[in-house]
Amino acid sequence: MDIKLDPSRDDLPLMANTSHILVKHYVLDLDVDFESQIIEGTIVLFFESGNKFKKQSSSTEETYPSESNEACKFRTPEPCHIPVTNTRTVSSKMGYNDFVIRGKGEKDTSGKDGNHDNQEQASGISSSKYCCDTGDHGSEDFLLVLDCCDLSVLKVEEVDVAAVPGIENFTRSPKLRNQIVRELVALPADRWREQLDYYARCSQAPGCGELLFDIDTWSLQIRKTGAQTATDFPHAIRIRYTTKPQGRSVTWTSDQSGRPCVYTMGSPINNRALFPCQEPPVAMSTWQATVRAAASFVVLMSGENSAKPTQLREGYSSWHYYVTMPMPASTFTIAVGSWTETKPEICSSNDLVTERSFSPFEADFRYVGVCGHMEYPCRFQNASATTQEIIPHRVFAPVCLKGACQETLLPLIPPCLSAAHSVLGTHPFSRLDVLIVPANFPSLGMASPHLVFLSQSTLTGMSQLCGTRLCHEIAHAWFGLAIGARDWTEEWLSEGFATHLEDVFWAKAQQQLAPDEAQEQQELRACLRWRRLQDEVRNSPEDMQVLRPNKEKTGHVSDSGSSVIKHGLNPEKVFMQVHYLKGYFLLRFLAKRLGDDTYFSFLRKFVHTFHGQLILSQDFLQMLLESIPEERRRTSQDTNTAIFVEATKCIFSFGGLLSFHPLPNKVMEFIWMAPSPLALGDLDFIIANIFCGPTKRLLL
Ligand SMILES: [Zn+2]
Repeated sequence: MDIKLDPSRDDLPLMANTSHILVKHYVLDLDVDFESQIIEGTIVLFFESGNKFKKQSSSTEETYPSESNEACKFRTPEPCHIPVTNTRTVSSKMGYNDFVIRGKGEKDTSGKDGNHDNQEQASGISSSKYCCDTGDHGSEDFLLVLDCCDLSVLKVEEVDVAAVPGIENFTRSPKLRNQIVRELVALPADRWREQLDYYARCSQAPGCGELLFDIDTWSLQIRKTGAQTATDFPHAIRIRYTTKPQGRSVTWTSDQSGRPCVYTMGSPINNRALFPCQEPPVAMSTWQATVRAAASFVVLMSGENSAKPTQLREGYSSWHYYVTMPMPASTFTIAVGSWTETKPEICSSNDLVTERSFSPFEADFRYVGVCGHMEYPCRFQNASATTQEIIPHRVFAPVCLKGACQETLLPLIPPCLSAAHSVLGTHPFSRLDVLIVPANFPSLGMASPHLVFLSQSTLTGMSQLCGTRLCHEIAHAWFGLAIGARDWTEEWLSEGFATHLEDVFWAKAQQQLAPDEAQEQQELRACLRWRRLQDEVRNSPEDMQVLRPNKEKTGHVSDSGSSVIKHGLNPEKVFMQVHYLKGYFLLRFLAKRLGDDTYFSFLRKFVHTFHGQLILSQDFLQMLLESIPEERRRTSQDTNTAIFVEATKCIFSFGGLLSFHPLPNKVMEFIWMAPSPLALGDLDFIIANIFCGPTKRLLL
């Protein structure tokens, strides 16, 4: 298969100008209408700006000079691909990487580069101007750019947070709207309830002036006449909008019982056709949402509370969810349908497993010290949360699958949660809903904060498929959600870990298995994965196989903070498992080389250090290098060979086979005749080899 890549079609733009201003909290207030297949309502965004977001001159694009850690934290890199070789993409001076204020006559010309035009044709949506923008606004206004597509925006206004009754109780400046929001977003973690409550009340405050806006294929641009900097721009704005039936963030369909439902199915464009947002992962925010639907529907969502419906007018009910842990907006998930909750037949499922005891090689969960993330009410700081093996959970499914869930899925959740806790320690999330999604769901599972989607096909056959998939999604709570990739294209950081950990969790969760049986299962799966990896490496474009496609560009963003996700829209990407599998083989290798005790102890330390934050590959490898004593890194055969040399081979050559598969002689020869050992500590070079090297050549 020889696929010609077209970056202008395959790359996904991230338009939000996160370098200047960041969303800290979203309040969604939505109605779901199955007849018209639209979701409509308002979203209120609360922003933080400040000195660290002051507009830089474009000449500073490439550097982040040494600053205080705090200042760096918010400007650290997000997904960014700055095209070098293909001038047809977005590299024009006026491309969408750098938003500038233009007069009407010089409206965005980047479409001429082929990008906007193509995408408009693809989506069938024109970049019409919905807006009331008629006057001459000069060239000095600050422009807020949000990621947005397939939405109809009806109105944008500033919210008069000063009009909220009682607001003077916590602010020193009850008249200054932006100052009120500044103080609100900065409330300490132990006042989270009060903060959520004020966010909700502020979101209902009256408007105090419409804002000008423009909408095009990929973004919503908002400004206020006379507000020249992000600091002056309103820090609380309300957007009234509706989704479109063909919008690509949610899927309107029927469940297996023939009842209508709608859910987010992990679209490449994430949630930007569900609500306008800042998509770059660096914009970590909290959210709360009130969703109304006909009373026969159940609303499930990424929220830490197990919401129950509130009856509204006849035949309608409302559901309210919230999170207090800041996360990228792309992780938000919702599913609305006639789901039935499946409960254990006899006793509470939580009672079944409290007796479990796993080998105590993971007794050292507690790491004293403060967390490295921005402030939120973190479970790692809560003594009773750290020892909670099984978090509260619910299972939902279409009514016709209730029996299958009860039989297959429900009994598996406690042991899998417990196994995960025994390996990694504290569950990052306080509770979990599991939903069996409609038949058109394109994969076996998907993990979001507090909500896991599983495909119906996991319910068939023995518990093996359901159990391993459940373990995979549970692993994402740590790798993918609590620890996110700063650069989306480094998806091995979530998928590689989840694939490796699903075996580890599952082996522990199956109490009846003897250790050698569990081992055999894992070896068999490794063998199947190896074949799959070989197939993909041979039959897919090399460009899409590298684990770190941005290479040395990782960590760079444009002046505004906008960027492009390489291959983000490539339809081929959905079916590829290279990133899962290469990551898996690397981690499997490390675990074998270091021994389980050392490896998992390191992994818990890693989780404790980085939960609540975004990372790059370097963070993992750097910490590994620093944490593992040098003797452990050496091999018994050749004391000059560092572990990373083998890791490199493990991913890109045949090293992954060494531990479980008899190797043909010539492969063995190749491995031992590999180029001279890399210098320990030369991290960039090592990473370049692991993540960016050619692959096909080594395998053939
Ligand atoms: Zn923490």
